[in-house]
Amino acid sequence: MLTKNSYPANSIDCSNLRKIRDIKPCLDQSHKPPTHLYLEPGEYEWTCPSCGAKQIFTVPLITFSTFTYNGDAPKQSLFEQG
Ligand SMILES: [Zn+2]
Repeated sequence: MLTKNSYPANSIDCSNLRKIRDIKPCLDQSHKPPTHLYLEPGEYEWTCPSCGAKQIFTVPLITFSTFTYNGDAPKQSLFEQG
């Protein structure tokens, strides 16, 4: 059992430590960016409509590689095909 009395009082200096806010989980379903969207490669910012939290995410240029059956080199990008 770990309690605050488990450590000697002078082992950790907490004088520079202060709590700036409580953790309040956001339960809005729109808190995280929508998935299953087709997005062009790039960097995107999503803002939660409820709490205003911002999240930056990246859609990579290379999404996957596939092997072809006719001996061609694997295609490295969706955007080189066709
Ligand atoms: Zn939120």
